[in-house]
Amino acid sequence: MAGLTAWVLGDQLSHDNPVLDGADRVLVVESAARLRSRPHHRQRAHLYLVAMRSFAAELAERGFEVDYRRADSLAAGVRAHRRRHRPDRLVVLSPSSRGARRGVERIAGVDIADGTLFLTSTEQFAQWAEGRKRLVMESFYRDQRRRLDVLMDGDDPAGGSWNFDAANRRTPPRGTRPPKPYRPRENRIDSEVRRDLDRMRLPSYGCDGPRLWPATGEQARRSLRRFVADRLPGFGPWQDAMLQGERFMWHAHLSPALNLGLLDPMECVEAAERAYREGDAPIESVEGFIRQLIGWREYVHGMHWLSGRERGRRNALRAHRDLPAALWSGETGMRCIADAVGGLRATAYAHHIERLMLFGNLMLLLGCEPDACLDWFRDSFIDGNEWVMDANVLGMATYADGGGVMTKPYAASGRYVDRMSDHCAECRYDPKARTGEDACPFSALYWDFLARNRKRLGDNHRMALAYENLDRIGGDELAAIRARARSARRELSA
Ligand SMILES: Cc1cc2nc3c(=O)[nH]c(=O)nc-3n(C[C@H](O)[C@H](O)[C@H](O)COP(=O)(O)OP(=O)(O)OC[C@H]3O[C@@H](n4cnc5c(N)ncnc54)[C@H](O)[C@@H]3O)c2cc1C
Ligand code: SF4
Repeated sequence: MAGLTAWVLGDQLSHDNPVLDGADRVLVVESAARLRSRPHHRQRAHLYLVAMRSFAAELAERGFEVDYRRADSLAAGVRAHRRRHRPDRLVVLSPSSRGARRGVERIAGVDIADGTLFLTSTEQFAQWAEGRKRLVMESFYRDQRRRLDVLMDGDDPAGGSWNFDAANRRTPPRGTRPPKPYRPRENRIDSEVRRDLDRMRLPSYGCDGPRLWPATGEQARRSLRRFVADRLPGFGPWQDAMLQGERFMWHAHLSPALNLGLLDPMECVEAAERAYREGDAPIESVEGFIRQLIGWREYVHGMHWLSGRERGRRNALRAHRDLPAALWSGETGMRCIADAVGGLRATAYAHHIERLMLFGNLMLLLGCEPDACLDWFRDSFIDGNEWVMDANVLGMATYADGGGVMTKPYAASGRYVDRMSDHCAECRYDPKARTGEDACPFSALYWDFLARNRKRLGDNHRMALAYENLDRIGGDELAAIRARARSARRELSA
């Protein structure tokens, strides 16, 4: 036997994966080392395995010879494949993250094909970045709109504006609840995977089942259609809102399918633009959704490859604390955190504002060590991939990159959560208070954070107003605020 083997990685499950063209056979490797490396959310391990096995079955139906291997590691899987099939060439599509690419490069004799499952190649992003003082997402996004000809009316942005954020950031009227999300039906592969995971006794946490996430291209497309029909119209105005017990709100919850390669981002963009052109969804929702996809998602991926960050090398705010135990247990009097952690354990998902303004904000204000934050986000979420982490966790959430992505930290007090959610009304803490044991931890920690980081942030002109406000607080009150911040830290870590 000889010929060409196409090796498909677990996040490259696209039938348009270019390495499949002309391949004599396909190799897919389930690596036990990867599964065991860290305590992942169980639902994440489940989804990955079901998606990989389902993809292999689809390829076999398409007529490919498929070598599906369960091995100790990716390298061991490749070695076993070579022994059995002796291919002349083994080719894999360039992995989406640096770490994975290094791992593949260490396996001798594997050809790495150019190209990704993104809309912007790493070279295109590097060209865009070249010579710019600041890599501002909004200007990248506008260039993407022009380059990809998305939501354009000739040379002008559709609807007369590039960005409709001002019309968004609202909370839904009282009593409004989001439509029910699409749910796939489990099959034989789910049962097998669940049995295998039980047998492997992996270090995992969170609930597994029923599977909530699409594991095939067909399921992903159904999920996309349901999103466009039911939720896209409300996506814009309510994308920053949080409601108790509502995990998905009007969000797409398509990131796992996109990150696995099951959905092509342009397919999602075209479906949303069609809804706008046909009058089924307003411009502020469609523009907001498309900005996330051709703007944020591509920017975050491009920044990952540009930054070349090594672990432990970015900690601009010198943050060294451990993560609070409540992020795993959900056991805290903070209603917002308890609700979001409970949801995370059940679904492996939280929407963007929960990730940024609850989890990220808490880590930032407490001063948690950035690499620990990064591990927590990667392991806990259904869509956690290495390439997503740099810009989102080290940039946006914790400001560990010192301003590479944001011009200032996303720090907020309990008043923000109160404005954007219904959590505070039922919380034992008071979002408006910043001293005393009833004070909202976010509110005390916010001022403590500013005071603690004055040397590092005081010169940032975008923080000027915050520091003016801090300076209006009298010495005794600031001492009381900082005492409350200390007790809040103790409560969270108990
Ligand atoms: C601290 C933090 C951690 C995050 N971790 C992840 C992660 O592990 N994996 C992940 O895919 N996204 C991550 N994000 C980005 C974003 O929050 C998720 O992509 C989004 O919540 C996924 O849910 P959704 O599909 O309902 O997204 P929607 O809000 O409906 O957005 C639509 C799509 O846009 C893309 N998108 C939007 N914002 C971003 C962004 N900032 N970065 C990358 N893609 C984006 C996603 O593909 C998403 O599916 C993180 C953001 C923050 C602030
Ligand atoms: S009062 Fe503070 S802790 Fe309680 S729900 Fe509101 S923001 Fe969260």
